[in-house]
Amino acid sequence: MIHRMDKLRRALLLLLVCLLLGLPSAAEDTEDPAPYIRVGLYWGDRALEGANLLNYTGSGYMLGYFDRDLQFVPLMRTEERAISMLKDWSLYYVGGQYVSQGSSDNIRVGCYHIRLGSYDSCEEAMEEASAYSDGYVGFMNGTWYAFCGSYLSQSAAESAAASRGVYGAAVTASSRCVTVVVTGTDRVIFQFDGGTETSLGVMPQPDASGERPITWFRGYKYYGGFRYTRRDGGNLTVVNVLEMDDYVCGVVPYEMSPSWPLEALKAQAVSARTYAASQLHKHESSGFDLCNTTCCQAYLGVNVNAPDCEEAVRDTSGVYVTYDGAYADTFYHSCDGGATENSENVFYEAIPYLKGVRDPYESHVTTGYEHWSYVYTADEITWILQNKGYKCAHIVSVTPTYTEVGNILSLRFTDSAGVSWTFSRSRASTILNSQTYNRIIHSQRFTVTDADAEQAFLCVNGTDTRISDNDALCAVDGSGQVRSIGERGSLTVITAAGTETVPLNGSGQAVTSDRFLVSGSGWGHNVGMSQYGAKAMAELGFTYDEILKFYYSGVDVG
Ligand SMILES: [Zn+2]
Repeated sequence: MIHRMDKLRRALLLLLVCLLLGLPSAAEDTEDPAPYIRVGLYWGDRALEGANLLNYTGSGYMLGYFDRDLQFVPLMRTEERAISMLKDWSLYYVGGQYVSQGSSDNIRVGCYHIRLGSYDSCEEAMEEASAYSDGYVGFMNGTWYAFCGSYLSQSAAESAAASRGVYGAAVTASSRCVTVVVTGTDRVIFQFDGGTETSLGVMPQPDASGERPITWFRGYKYYGGFRYTRRDGGNLTVVNVLEMDDYVCGVVPYEMSPSWPLEALKAQAVSARTYAASQLHKHESSGFDLCNTTCCQAYLGVNVNAPDCEEAVRDTSGVYVTYDGAYADTFYHSCDGGATENSENVFYEAIPYLKGVRDPYESHVTTGYEHWSYVYTADEITWILQNKGYKCAHIVSVTPTYTEVGNILSLRFTDSAGVSWTFSRSRASTILNSQTYNRIIHSQRFTVTDADAEQAFLCVNGTDTRISDNDALCAVDGSGQVRSIGERGSLTVITAAGTETVPLNGSGQAVTSDRFLVSGSGWGHNVGMSQYGAKAMAELGFTYDEILKFYYSGVDVG
């Protein structure tokens, strides 16, 4: 005998409205030209057994999938405000999450179900499912099904079907199936299996205010929708699918202080947007565009209350940095310490708009990294190299070479046997890092000198005002030409006592010592925009496009 549900339960279930008919195709909606982006939130080792959603603002969700253009295709709607997406597995509700380890005291959602039949439409499947208190519908590879129950084993499902008098097959779903339940219960709302082509999509719905919904997920609030993908029986890869500008709103406050000037925030917004556009598909093998960590750009949804960041993003909507018509790789870093660097001198690849520029602006603001220095003994350097696998004897000299703008290009270490090891570009700045000695080289802008030698410096007019940037000095030579003095080699000056030679930082000159002074400024990789420099330029009255064009040589901003 089939158990018929009471009227109340039937009314509740029918709140799950079928949406296959009567809805305009989302793909026909061309009013919003904003591009969409897929941001990985949990994937790989961090993929989830269960993922809860809770409306912060909004009322319920559409369940469906995202098509190839990332347009959401709705299949049905639920008014439930708290739903959980689960891998179709036997899970226990423990401590507010669905996990595979639990006890019989916990609420359980089994992965064996009674399949009632297949149907041509959601309505037909819903009609059948609504006859059971634990009935629900599923959309499996394009076909609608009605199910009831969730049991921990095949035999439990079979005996339940027999004892309940239900005519249906005890089944468990494929390794790609995702189950949607009401959070904190074992009440199944929906099951989805899109095969290899599509994954379950969940789109939060606006409430009566009509404002864009915001949704809680694992302690953070998000705009946009979510996508849940299982591969080969694994856990759920959770992806936030949202408009580019909503994503950029979620990046800017984590990459730059929301209290900084608006033009700096706009430069950061355009930079972050362009970086995202140029790096789309970076994580395609995991099924999304960018991840939410600093591997791509830090993104934690809309948690930070940052109205200026929001304004910076909206005011620059659709603006990108381009070079020769293509999105630029808008690398940025915290502070350059005086000069940025050619990309090929840091990352190996020469990119025409990533050129080292001397930065006269950054020093107008406090970065906290104006100057840092360490003294390394020769023993320490020897130990660090040996500990990193280089079979060197006692290091006796270090030979630095510098780039055009005075950043480090390479370091050559020579041991007592006369054997040398050379580290270039970014390796030159990381080779001296040591947890043991608590040394971190913060940027590629540093010098290596003999710590025991008197440090050479230039003063002006007999005062003790030191010139920090020799390259800014010019001299008129014998032919009347104005030349930059540069910061390498040596400088001959005429003093009251005659001529005197002042050594500058030598490029390619070996420093032989027992103690080496490593002295630098800045924090980051020195390529592209300095964020503190952008702050300084904004405070000095430059606009965001002027800031971007200063740090990215020869680009268009628009
Ligand atoms: Zn990434």
